[in-house]
Amino acid sequence: MSDNTPVAVPTPAFPGGTVLGYPRIGRMRELKKALESFWKGTTTEADLEATAKELRSVTRERMAGLGLAKDDSSIPSNFSFYDHVLDASVTFGAIPTRFARLRKDDGSVDLAGYSTIARGEGADAPLEMTKWFDSNYHYLVPEIGPETTFALSSTRWVDEFTEAKGAGYLTRPVITGPLTYLYLAKPSDDAPTGFAPIERLDDLLAVYVELLAAFKAAGAEWVQIDEPVLVADIDADRADVLANAEKVYAALAAAAERPQILVAAPMGSLEDALPVLAASGVEAVALDLVKGAVPEGVDLAGLTVVAGVVDGHNIWRTDADKALAKLEAVAALGGAVAVGTATSLFHVPHTLEGEEHLGEELLSWLSFADEKIGEVVTLATALREGEDAVADALAETRAALASRAAHPGTNRADVRDRLAAITPADRDRAAYPVREAAQHERFQLPELATTTIGSFPQTPEIRKSRAAWAKGEIDDAAYEAAMKAEIQSVVKLQEDLDLDVLVHGEAERNDMVQYFAELLDGFSVTKNGWVQSYGSRCTRPSILWGDVARPEPMTVRWAQYAQSLSDKPVKGMLTGPVTILAWSFVRDDQPLSVTADQVGLALRDEVTDLEDAGIGIIQVDEPALRELLPLRKRDQAAYLEWSVGSFRLSTAGAKDDTQVHTHLCYSEFGEIIDAIDGLDADVTSIEAARSRMEVLPAIRTHGYERQIGPGVWDIHSPRVPSTQEMTELLSLAKESIPGRQLWVNPDCGLKTRGYEETVASLENLIAATKAVR
Ligand code: GLN
Ligand code: ZN
Repeated sequence: MSDNTPVAVPTPAFPGGTVLGYPRIGRMRELKKALESFWKGTTTEADLEATAKELRSVTRERMAGLGLAKDDSSIPSNFSFYDHVLDASVTFGAIPTRFARLRKDDGSVDLAGYSTIARGEGADAPLEMTKWFDSNYHYLVPEIGPETTFALSSTRWVDEFTEAKGAGYLTRPVITGPLTYLYLAKPSDDAPTGFAPIERLDDLLAVYVELLAAFKAAGAEWVQIDEPVLVADIDADRADVLANAEKVYAALAAAAERPQILVAAPMGSLEDALPVLAASGVEAVALDLVKGAVPEGVDLAGLTVVAGVVDGHNIWRTDADKALAKLEAVAALGGAVAVGTATSLFHVPHTLEGEEHLGEELLSWLSFADEKIGEVVTLATALREGEDAVADALAETRAALASRAAHPGTNRADVRDRLAAITPADRDRAAYPVREAAQHERFQLPELATTTIGSFPQTPEIRKSRAAWAKGEIDDAAYEAAMKAEIQSVVKLQEDLDLDVLVHGEAERNDMVQYFAELLDGFSVTKNGWVQSYGSRCTRPSILWGDVARPEPMTVRWAQYAQSLSDKPVKGMLTGPVTILAWSFVRDDQPLSVTADQVGLALRDEVTDLEDAGIGIIQVDEPALRELLPLRKRDQAAYLEWSVGSFRLSTAGAKDDTQVHTHLCYSEFGEIIDAIDGLDADVTSIEAARSRMEVLPAIRTHGYERQIGPGVWDIHSPRVPSTQEMTELLSLAKESIPGRQLWVNPDCGLKTRGYEETVASLENLIAATKAVR
């Protein structure tokens, strides 16, 4: 080595291409099945370990087969049994006091203990679950207090590296960074008021230093430390966040024994945090260049930049020309450039293999995790050897993109014309007092009217009928009859219980988004496109690829049938445009606002058809309204403007005496109260039981004039709340909101509940209402 080798160039260099992480659940959801049978007790801890080991082995082999090298740290080692943030908690020994019994002598927990922390046991609530940034993944919130003892308590991360090494793979361990870990944590129950977990940064840093040394000793050459918190505006002063970033990465860079460090910043732009990281002494930084822009005016000489030009959070084939242009722009900043994904690939399904039913053309526009690895490899080759080296792949990509742009389904004149003709008046209904009077006249509902959120238990029989129908084992008429029988029994039950506003129970819906996706133009549905939502739970998002239109009514015949069975109003039930977008993979070739309005128009027609069929109360659910809220405050107003606008477009065609309801699945209502007010629904139901009506005083202060249904029954567990308990909650609610504005309902839909607890809880809910009335 010559004397003038610049010291800043990492040795060995970062590989030319990599992905920030790979799906953990398994192509055939092997991990889900292994976890669930372990929890049921039909398999042992050793069985679960064996399945996980096999899955990690298959995963490494697959990534290598797709073109990532086995020996240069380009293959990430990011396995998790349940959640990567929980893994950090158990690795650092940060286990809440109520689970201290699960700790073994050496501080570690076994897989049974780990599962208990994730899922709770008896009176010991599990760690709280929250959305991971603006994705549909949920992590387990660490609980940190002044008393939390941080100590390296698990060898799993290092062992998994060693396991791979033993199999001939030099992988790159991926861990959650100290800033993200502590800023996402909440104060433990025993912490004094005003305590913030970030106060424990120094103590936690010491454990990271120890961990880095352990990776180094095991032979790791690179480690990836994820810090998505740096791309978000959080509840902490940005200057403090940056000061902490400087402190953390200077300290880790200065650690005596460590692998080289890649700090990854998925989900947005680092902005002012980039110069801080660049100056810290870490060797590499991964940037999200899909959500974030190529930085300008920073000198990155001496740093390796992993340019995240392949979208890890959505499923569209990468525009290789645009990606190459971004790579060039990054190279101009002076650092070494590697090709990467913008985020970990755990947000997308494993593979397009087996999805041939989507048709060759749509398939050619798509890229799931495995195909994305191929894209990274192609771009890295182009960067290293020139575009000629991958001319065929680039030509194929260009052809696919051209076919997507030219496809008539992505640009329908009928849809576009209607969209262009929308006026502001299309998003407005009559003033609320006018509607209220008309609705009161029509429905004569009592004070504290009772209702449910929509779904009733999805029994095994319902699922069996649907599966049999999908397989062609029963015909349409038989399926229809089975669903009608279910509706009939749900309506009868609600009449017997004496609820005021009924629902049909949603038996015919496999999922509140997919049901609509299957009936609307512009969507396709995968067979096996599962994505981890939390723990063993997966969702199968639909693909919204084209202009959205409604070929025919989607819910009317079910609603009409249900209404024919009762003199009481039965609510029509729709999923709102923002939620349909949030829980699908949405086209990226036009602003979300345009797509949302297309969905809004389709729903608007459904509302009219429901009205014409005699349905007087229509609920449009928007549980995901808050989920898509941008991570940066400055982007939030624009988001709320179009998201609220698309909801209003879907509902504002309703007549004055049609009562529009909406449902939002969370209680952190306070921070977007203006937006919720802006939805202009006549009745809004929210989650409130667990937080004991905490948000109602803020709603009163806000001057909210319409009606609200704060949930009095937490439906997330099988527990039956007593009449007494719900009476108290209702009395509490009445302290903030006058009775004529209040509704009584559960926190959310009942599809995951059983009938036994449903009937018992609803009986108590009605009894409590009658007591308080
Ligand atoms: N109407 C839906 C249901 O009751 C709402 C579900 C939700 O909020 N996620 O199931
Ligand atoms: Zn809900």
